[in-house]
Amino acid sequence: MKKNIVILGSTGSIGRQALEVIGWHPDSFQILGVAAQQNIDLLEEQVRTFQVPYVAVEDEAAAKILAGRLQDIGTHCLAGPEGLLELVRLADAELILVAVSGVAGLRPTMEAISCGKHIALANKETLVSGGSIVMEAARNKGIQIIPVDSEHSAIFQCLNNTKDVEKLIVTGSGGPFRKMLREDLDQVTPEMALRHPTWQMGSKITIDSATLMNKGLEIIEARWLFGIDYEHIQVVIHPQSIVHSLVEYSDGAVLAQLGWPDMRVPIQYAFFYPERQGNSLPSLDLIQVGQLTFESPDLDRFPCLRLAQEAGKIGGTMTAVLNAANEVAVQAFLGNVVSFTAIPKLVNEVMNLHSPKTGKLALEEILDADRWGRACTRQLIKTRC
Ligand code: NDP
Ligand code: MG
Repeated sequence: MKKNIVILGSTGSIGRQALEVIGWHPDSFQILGVAAQQNIDLLEEQVRTFQVPYVAVEDEAAAKILAGRLQDIGTHCLAGPEGLLELVRLADAELILVAVSGVAGLRPTMEAISCGKHIALANKETLVSGGSIVMEAARNKGIQIIPVDSEHSAIFQCLNNTKDVEKLIVTGSGGPFRKMLREDLDQVTPEMALRHPTWQMGSKITIDSATLMNKGLEIIEARWLFGIDYEHIQVVIHPQSIVHSLVEYSDGAVLAQLGWPDMRVPIQYAFFYPERQGNSLPSLDLIQVGQLTFESPDLDRFPCLRLAQEAGKIGGTMTAVLNAANEVAVQAFLGNVVSFTAIPKLVNEVMNLHSPKTGKLALEEILDADRWGRACTRQLIKTRC
């Protein structure tokens, strides 16, 4: 029996690698649906190659064009944000890979959980903004969310019981500016920041990796996925990106997961979970790696990590606002509207202006906080530039 998979964000870095993994195992998986924002050329190619019966395009005009192009093969074409929800609701959908970027993943993830689907989650912004409600909904439905983010996949694989955990150790490469002087960070251009030393990823997460916001988002992601307090989550910079993360137990034993930096490994793991399956990827050669080094993150040069830690500890809607401000600030940096060092400044200012709502939150309250955070950040950018 083949597993029916839906891929949200199939045209992105994770989505394309997921299709590659599925292509290695044609007897194990059937792609029931793919979705993206507007890249209909690639969607059309994917639909034809994998004979995908359903496709959703968030941009309604693009969806219309794609529907016309796919008439000859009868693929159902869904449109708008609602199209993504229709896709995850399909009765035959078994596993949903959430690999869209940004908070756009939150509503479809909640919908998929409410329909009882299994979730492979690459999209960390969903948990950063709505971790409390996502995990509660998953618990109520008895659904296990399988992490795809490499650090969280590593922790998931090393974690056999949360009761005896002393510490989760989340590793990060440190990004391309690990050694750059503070005064030089002002001159960083999008081109420089898009050159990540160890991982090939979409542009938003690549900038987050350069500011260390990515690690900040990941500790919030880890807090929700594994139910561990922030006091027990440590970030360690590991430039080689070979040790993907570690779990320290109360008796001092530390388990780690290692491998070449290649997202196809955690993607395949999530697809086959709880089984493991072979593939033709090269095995890790420790002699070739030679050295594994570790250092502390520099929170003065990279304040985004500290801001995420603060937002996480405040909780409630503050993490949704942190995420929203960061998404807008990163887009503005990529568009050459603000500088690299303006990103943490904007996030900080927006957080200071926010009166967080805490306690039990509803999805709409989180999405309201997200909208507020975006509007506030845009306003700050407008008044400054
Ligand atoms: P990309 O930018 O490469 O791809 C994003 C995908 O999401 C594209 O398919 C895009 O469509 C689609 N998309 C964006 N917004 C919407 C929307 N509103 N509705 C529908 N589709 C949308 O991102 P990545 O693949 O790099 O990252 C995806 C997620 O996975 C992120 O949350 C990231 O943090 C996480 N992640 C990524 C890793 C990586 O190695 N890349 C590693 C760990 C986590 P279109 O192409 O049409 O714009
Ligand atoms: Mg990661």
